[in-house]
Amino acid sequence: MESLRELYKIGRGPSSSHTMGPARAAHEFAASYPQATSFRVTLYGSLALTGKGHLTDVAVTEALPRPVEVLFDPEKKELPHPNTLDFEAKEGDLVIGRQRYLSIGGGTILKEGEKRQAAETIYPFRNFDEILTYCREHNCAPEQVVYDFEDGGIYDFLREVYASMTATVKRGLAASGKLPGSLGVERKAKTLFETIPEEEEPAAREKRLVCAFAFATSEENASGGTIVTAPTCGASGVLPAVLHYLGGKYGFSERRIVAALATAGLVGVTVKQNASVSGAEAGCQAEVGTATSMAAAAVCRLFNASLVETEYAAEIALEHQLGLTCDPVGGYVQIPCIERNAVAALRALASADLARVLSGTRKISFDTVVRTMYETGKDLSARYRETSEGGLALSYKGCT
Ligand code: SF4
Repeated sequence: MESLRELYKIGRGPSSSHTMGPARAAHEFAASYPQATSFRVTLYGSLALTGKGHLTDVAVTEALPRPVEVLFDPEKKELPHPNTLDFEAKEGDLVIGRQRYLSIGGGTILKEGEKRQAAETIYPFRNFDEILTYCREHNCAPEQVVYDFEDGGIYDFLREVYASMTATVKRGLAASGKLPGSLGVERKAKTLFETIPEEEEPAAREKRLVCAFAFATSEENASGGTIVTAPTCGASGVLPAVLHYLGGKYGFSERRIVAALATAGLVGVTVKQNASVSGAEAGCQAEVGTATSMAAAAVCRLFNASLVETEYAAEIALEHQLGLTCDPVGGYVQIPCIERNAVAALRALASADLARVLSGTRKISFDTVVRTMYETGKDLSARYRETSEGGLALSYKGCT
């Protein structure tokens, strides 16, 4: 399993696979051809179909140091990954270098033919069950696994991640106006936050707060602001909403919040290892579904839940999002994405709550649900995997 540093990336939205990954690939490619006078980038698959709305062309153009021609080729089939892009470096009219990259989700990139596993393995575990076995054998909490296998700077890194998440929530709550793009979507976080009626039931008020925090991050993401992938840009609102809400309510120590982030991170890297966190590969269950599992596990860690309860909470959170499709309207990470993050944050809290009561009766393991999610994702029609060719993206005709 890879490092949590590969999971939590601080960067600009709106899409880890469509902006962060391609921008990273562009930087890497450009560094190999300092003599190039121009570049050509061809986007395929989901990058071609939703790259405009996701600002892929802007991301690669800004990342390359010379003039860039960006081509969209949605027709090409038989791609090694739904998010494939080709780079060419030119000196005058002469092509002096080519490289194909795959943007495999969460901002992670591979060169074509490159094996992901070998170079990046940090944890010697194949699945979540092996992580839990390690915890039992060493009588330790999940975050200790992270401290045992990552480098010495991981605690500070996770602190920085939380600080960034908090800053994003605050920026999002303060912002107003329309999000970029042709849909004319208004920001709603500020309104949600400021209009909670005094007479509202405490439980209803708190749900509203969680939603406001999720909207705040997801709206920042949609507007190209700085967010933390958790596990992706599109799903970046879920974990911060839950942490910001519970952190504010209970005043958890920094050490406890970092432990929660570490625990959530182990859930995320397990999914990356055994399935996918890419909407283009496995639908929104892979993005928001995984984010919900991560957040549910984080909640459990905050409240010192047992390992079994933590695993069960992550399992519940993903199980009930199996089959969730990715159909962003107009290719923008706005509808249904922003609202979906808010609903998922509430679901994470509910999953953790259920797990703490029912963990003695569970029948399904988290690893089973991760495998099922991936198989389901592969069975999903490509129309529901970040192509904006099906679902809401197709049905949406605007509202009056
Ligand atoms: S529908 Fe889900 S997977 Fe698709 S872009 Fe939106 S958040 Fe990402």
